[in-house]
Amino acid sequence: MSSRSAINQHGTVLLVQLRYNYRVYPDTAQREALSRSFGCARVVFNDGLHLRQQAREAGEKYLSDGELSRRLITEAKATEERAWLGEVSSVVLQQALADLNTAYRNFFASLTGKRKGRKVAPPRFRSRKDNRQAIRFTKNSRFRVLDNGRLRLPKIGDLDVRWSRTLPADPSSVAIIKDAAGRYFASFVVQTAEDETLPEADSEVGIDLGLTHFAVMSDGTKVAAPKFLRRAARKLKRLQQDLSRKQRGSQNRKKAVVKVARAHARVADTRRDWQHKLSTRIIRENQAVYVEDLCVVGLGRTRLAKSVHDAGWASFTGMLEYKAARYGRTFARVDRFFPSTRMCSACGRINENMALDIRAWDCPCGAAHDRDVNAAINVKAAGQADFNDRGAQARPGLVPAPRGEAVTHPDVACSTRSVEGISVL
Ligand SMILES: [Zn+2]
Repeated sequence: MSSRSAINQHGTVLLVQLRYNYRVYPDTAQREALSRSFGCARVVFNDGLHLRQQAREAGEKYLSDGELSRRLITEAKATEERAWLGEVSSVVLQQALADLNTAYRNFFASLTGKRKGRKVAPPRFRSRKDNRQAIRFTKNSRFRVLDNGRLRLPKIGDLDVRWSRTLPADPSSVAIIKDAAGRYFASFVVQTAEDETLPEADSEVGIDLGLTHFAVMSDGTKVAAPKFLRRAARKLKRLQQDLSRKQRGSQNRKKAVVKVARAHARVADTRRDWQHKLSTRIIRENQAVYVEDLCVVGLGRTRLAKSVHDAGWASFTGMLEYKAARYGRTFARVDRFFPSTRMCSACGRINENMALDIRAWDCPCGAAHDRDVNAAINVKAAGQADFNDRGAQARPGLVPAPRGEAVTHPDVACSTRSVEGISVL
């Protein structure tokens, strides 16, 4: 479950958007209809991106959303090359353009500095080879959950849904997602005005995201990635090696690709579950949570790549962020250039560069430090100082819904969020 919440400066929750995901099992005809819809949404998205890029290169003004919709949906359907757009729900096509607009808005906001945090990449073309395909239906498409528990989607049919928990309210939209392992999910957005603010907690915590442990807390707690997760990751690695030995275009290679995708999905699921439990616990126990702002993709280019990506810090800190907003806690990232490791948390002295293998050190002031715990204490102190400086301003006005929790764009330094506007599992 994920959330997007608007909080005013008094800390009152105005509106909370919750996301509920369920596995769905389309039959053959429905899978074909879905694949058609994914394809049409992709084409409209790409046409829109293409038109806007052309307009920019020609020095023309930015095409309005209405103009784009008229040309790429209404008028396009009347042409021979795009007549097939009429075979899918027009809401799906409108939503594809809405995704494009969101991607542009985020990109511009990031360029002008209105959007804080990591840089957002410009929208990029979607491909049929993308790991995830997604379409979205809003209220006015008249999608419906039937009395028999099936989900009725226009021009798709009545889908079989595994209701792993009940929807708390009427959903305002539903996205249908197909992941790399070929599984389908329905992701409902439900809006509630429910105030979920937790009673105030006494403690605050700083977290150091390290390589020897997944996370080390300022109170001395060290959290290692669980064994079952490491085992699953090892198995995935083996399957990937198998795959690399298969001949291109061969039947065996195709089979190996599916195996890798399945194992990958399993690792991602397991890791997500584990991270959800951990982040919920940290948010419940602490009034404020501070983490170091890591440029995960940047780090990922170095020799540490493998362990960094396996660790999945970006998705984890994303969870902390939206859960903090949802439960009325403080969450802040501390500047990643701040020397958290080398600074003595007792006297403030900054010591010389430290090799990665030094796990404990003594400061001339007499303090004995565990490397990671010392760093976490520094992160906490820096976060508290930052937060007090900014005061009430530091409260997030709008917290981005966590999207693509494990998705990274290797081509764009420091962008760890999907910019296409579709929030995925
Ligand atoms: Zn010291």
